[in-house]
Amino acid sequence: MKGTAEIAGGGIAGLAAGVALAQRGWRVRVHEQDEALRILGAGIYIWENGLKVLEALGLYDAVTAGALPVLRRERRDRSNALIGAEPFGGPGARLYVPLRATLLHALADGLARAGGEIVFGSRIASAEANGVARFADGRTAQADLVIGADGVGSPVRDSLGLLKWRRPADQYGYRIMIQRRPEELMTQAGASICEHWNGSRRLLYAPATADLAYVQLTSVKGDASAGAAYNRDAWLETFPHLDWIIDRIPADGRGDWFEWVRLHGWSKGAVAVLGDAATAQPPFLGQGGGLAMMMALSLACHLEAASSVEAGLAAWEAREKRFCQWIQQVSYSYGRLALAPEWYRMLALKALSASDVLKRNTVRAAAMREPTGTPGAPAVAQ
Ligand SMILES: Cc1cc2nc3c(=O)[nH]c(=O)nc-3n(C[C@H](O)[C@H](O)[C@H](O)COP(=O)(O)OP(=O)(O)OC[C@H]3O[C@@H](n4cnc5c(N)ncnc54)[C@H](O)[C@@H]3O)c2cc1C
Repeated sequence: MKGTAEIAGGGIAGLAAGVALAQRGWRVRVHEQDEALRILGAGIYIWENGLKVLEALGLYDAVTAGALPVLRRERRDRSNALIGAEPFGGPGARLYVPLRATLLHALADGLARAGGEIVFGSRIASAEANGVARFADGRTAQADLVIGADGVGSPVRDSLGLLKWRRPADQYGYRIMIQRRPEELMTQAGASICEHWNGSRRLLYAPATADLAYVQLTSVKGDASAGAAYNRDAWLETFPHLDWIIDRIPADGRGDWFEWVRLHGWSKGAVAVLGDAATAQPPFLGQGGGLAMMMALSLACHLEAASSVEAGLAAWEAREKRFCQWIQQVSYSYGRLALAPEWYRMLALKALSASDVLKRNTVRAAAMREPTGTPGAPAVAQ
């Protein structure tokens, strides 16, 4: 089926859903509360699963243009000794870290090309199961489908009573892009993604383009770095051997406390919730955006095959929800390693680096899933 869709939120989830629906003949309007696309953060990991969705949407080239393929991923301990390393690249094991701005602009351009529209400065305050969207300024709109892709605090989700719980993970991330030096491309350290661990602190370095690298610093509640301005000296004390990164980190990065959510259901009547509104997770797997894009494409495919919106949404949730909840759980648990005793953390990280079976069932499970609507996935039943 096809019809009209009003979507709350012009982030990754709302735009991806908009593109996938508009490409299938839906009349789509995305409402973004801000006056422009909200370019939160810096770089974004897009794993194999997200890349396959972008291919299906015709946006792969636009998103990966200028980004470097990741060829190696490492984990290192406090003394810079290797905990484990794994190769990346090639069919089935791709990973890119483009700028978030590149991803969002590509999605917005894809939406426009497919005939969809973005309305800026338009906030949806609530929705009703019969497909009515209520705006913050008092307007209403009736549609065949309303989507709450309005982030972890989703007013659309909450207006329908779909939230079971929303919990803090008590962990904090500071993210920023730094300039790279040409010689960094020549060294293994400068050319690899690396997670550096010392106690409960983690520094992530990820080459993004020839000129820029993405850096994320994570710390736990109670650490003076958590929730505070960037403190170069504190991070240098924790990772003295990473002065070549730390000295280039500016103080105007973005900081976030991590949260995750669990829902009673992903839809009510003609309203669905998507992205962080439904699957928010601490970002230790780099999969929040990837899942959002997968669920967006899957939603559009299920509606295309269904005889009614309600039937399509029920089939969509039945196929995807358990898997998404598992990924949320894995991401949360990975982050909890920061609170574990050092010996346990090292044991777990070594096992995760060494065992393909463990990886496939945990930290790489999302990356290795064939997204619904892409050639390798089972077809959606009519
Ligand atoms: C530190 C950090 C690092 C991360 N790294 C990665 C990564 O490497 N890879 C990855 O895949 N994911 C990553 N994520 C997760 C990823 O950022 C999110 O999962 C993703 O942005 C969710 O997209 P969304 O569209 O659901 O929500 P959001 O990005 O929150 O977008 C929601 C949009 O809706 C708008 N909005 C909100 N309410 C309303 C309303 N009522 N009406 C209209 N508009 C509204 C907002 O202004 C916003 O533009 C990371 C997250 C964090 C915090």
